[in-house]
Amino acid sequence: MKRILVTGGAGFIGSHLIDRLLERGNDVVCLDNFFTGSKENIRHLLDHHYFELIRHDVTEPILLEVDEIYNLACPASPVHYQYNPVKTIKTNVMGTINMLGLAKRTKARILQASTSEVYGDPHVHPQTEDYWGNVNPIGIRSCYDEGKRVAETLCMDYHRSNGVDVKIVRIFNTYGPRMAENDGRVVSNFIVQALQGQDITVYGEGDQTRSFCYVDNLVDGFLRMMDTEGFTGPVNLGNPGEFTILELAEKVIDLTGSTSKIIKMPLPPDDPTQRKPNISLAQEKLGGWTPDIPLEEGLKKTIAYFESHLKKSPAKV
Ligand code: NAD
Ligand code: UDP
Repeated sequence: MKRILVTGGAGFIGSHLIDRLLERGNDVVCLDNFFTGSKENIRHLLDHHYFELIRHDVTEPILLEVDEIYNLACPASPVHYQYNPVKTIKTNVMGTINMLGLAKRTKARILQASTSEVYGDPHVHPQTEDYWGNVNPIGIRSCYDEGKRVAETLCMDYHRSNGVDVKIVRIFNTYGPRMAENDGRVVSNFIVQALQGQDITVYGEGDQTRSFCYVDNLVDGFLRMMDTEGFTGPVNLGNPGEFTILELAEKVIDLTGSTSKIIKMPLPPDDPTQRKPNISLAQEKLGGWTPDIPLEEGLKKTIAYFESHLKKSPAKV
């Protein structure tokens, strides 16, 4: 049995990851400051014999004995990471240093949740891992994009200088049950709006593209990456199916049977125009990993979650 630390474990992806780690018979420590995470996401685990919850901020050092670390702590939605941008940078820089220091002391393997945002508004399409990106260093998304880029740098420097066993995954837009209804990202916004009969808020003309990965497929990629030997990454994890935001809005209206109208809102600055992962490296290194849940199927599961969740607690977007 391994003792595994998941930072950001009460968040959307972290809580799904913990479910899988416990199923595999591990001892899991969930660390979270509950900025965007919620106890609701992990309530079903609170009585589990091998689950432990620590309310803690990764920007502060912590002493623990662990075998593996998944470092997910960081708000992921633009609305939340821009709320306190300096804190977002601290979480990515000091938080990652603290977790790499912990990995160094305990000789734990550490997986860093990086992001497709390291490619910025990409000039290479689809994005391959050897592309260095096109990121604005001084814009409103920079606290997150540059924070995650420094986190990758820190991982590689701890690896080269201190022999820390690091794994870097670049996550592309991921969605599924347990996204917060006020998360602000596009899939949860559109579903909540459609279910509540509100206008669907498309930013810009809606011709920008994203590639959406269902959370179970992503978590499977995490587990496979953690089990690789002699491979640090970075590796792209995402579903290569590419859709415009307008197509997504139409799909959500169709699948919910909603009467909501689509309205156009101003496009936020630096919003990337296109995004699609090249996953050849993941397929080669992670035993043929392929996200096999198509958008429509994943959306149906996510809609079902919000249908039952919103009945319990009506939400505002
Ligand atoms: P989320 O906001 O649901 O989860 C983030 C979790 O981290 C929350 O539980 C939050 O409370 C916690 N957290 C934030 N700051 C913290 C701090 N200083 N100390 C301790 N805990 C803190 O987001 P998510 O979608 O589950 O994302 C998880 C990770 O994956 C993040 O690192 C994010 O950057 C990365 N990622 C996600 C996506 C995506 O599409 N979901 C894409 C790229 C990267
Ligand atoms: N978006 C939108 N309406 C919303 C929320 C987001 O049109 O209510 C757009 C946003 O401008 C971006 C895309 O959807 O082009 C994905 O946004 P999200 O915040 O989910 O992720 P990211 O921009 O970080 O990829």
